[in-house]
Formats: sequence, C-alpha cells, structure tokens
Amino acid sequence: MNAEQILEQFRQTDALLEGHFILSSGLHSPEYLQCALALQYPPDAAKFSKAIAEQFTDENIETIASPAIGGLIIGYEVAKALNVRFVWTERENGIMTVRRGFSVKERERILVVEDVITTGGSTRECIEALEARGAKVVGAASIIDRSNGTVDVGVPRVSLVSLEVPSYQPEDCPMCRSGVEAIKPGSRK
Ligand SMILES: [Zn+2]
Repeated sequence: MNAEQILEQFRQTDALLEGHFILSSGLHSPEYLQCALALQYPPDAAKFSKAIAEQFTDENIETIASPAIGGLIIGYEVAKALNVRFVWTERENGIMTVRRGFSVKERERILVVEDVITTGGSTRECIEALEARGAKVVGAASIIDRSNGTVDVGVPRVSLVSLEVPSYQPEDCPMCRSGVEAIKPGSRK
C-alpha cells in the first residue's frame, strides 16, 4: 500500500476531511484528521498494519507496544502481522506507564506503534516507560506523520504517510478571510 492509496482510504472513511476546520486547539486548518475512522473496518486496519510490519521483518521484533488509546488497534494489528506479542502503555495520574500486569524483559526488542504522530509526545513517553523496564526499543512506527518527518523520538522512526497540515490562528486564517464557513468536526456546528 503506497501513501496515495492510504490517503484515499482515509478520505473514503472521512478520516481525512478537506475544507475549513476549527481544531480542538482553536487553530483553523484546511484539513482534519481522525485516524479512528480509518480503522473502523478490520480489513483496512490489517492493510495498514501489513505495510508497517513489512518494514520491520528483519528486526527480530519480539513485542509491539502502543500508547493507549490511539495506538491500540493499529498496534494489535501490526503484532498480528508479525506474529508477536502486543502490550500497551497508558497514563496513570498523567504519567505513561506499563500496567495491567504486562511484563517487559531485559533487552526485549520492542517496536512502538501509533496511529498518528503529531508532536511525538505519546510515542516518546511510551518508549521511556518501556526503557525504564529494561526494554530495547528498536523503532517507532505510525500510519500518519503529521510532523512531516521533523519529530525525533530517539529511535528510528517510519510512517506510511507524511502530512504537513497547515494551521492558522483565526485572525491569520486565509479561509476565514475568503469567507468560507469554519466547521468544528464532530459537532453540529
Ligand atoms: Zn479560518
């Protein structure tokens, strides 16, 4: 699956909308991304996962780990494609931790998988939580990279699609200036 095919799949499921949007940050953008919508259909999730898994077949990955909630579906599917174990990390009192009795072995070769990387925050925190348990995190992967390749998470990183999504302060927004109505995705405007 190449980047264009993945984007087409995202558009078909409305996971990627084009128009004039008010993001949760309050910034305005011509694109809106909601990865969860692209993962509604298991065969689609399996296709994205296969494309990620193919890039790590020679890495002797023992375990896939994902930060909850965003990474759960795609991480599980990548683990399935590589036939390895899947665990996840989650925030407890704001700190990303390994919970639920999941064990991590010393030097265990782990690949961290997310749906989308924007600032890299949750991936980085997930990596730190695993390394604190002695794991060897060998890489990080995501379907979408919204940083257009600029985010560094401290380990080799791959993404299937690199997107640079422009965002504007409302007063600087060219779409507002041209009089297009701004939509708050998920609301009834
Ligand atoms: Zn605007």
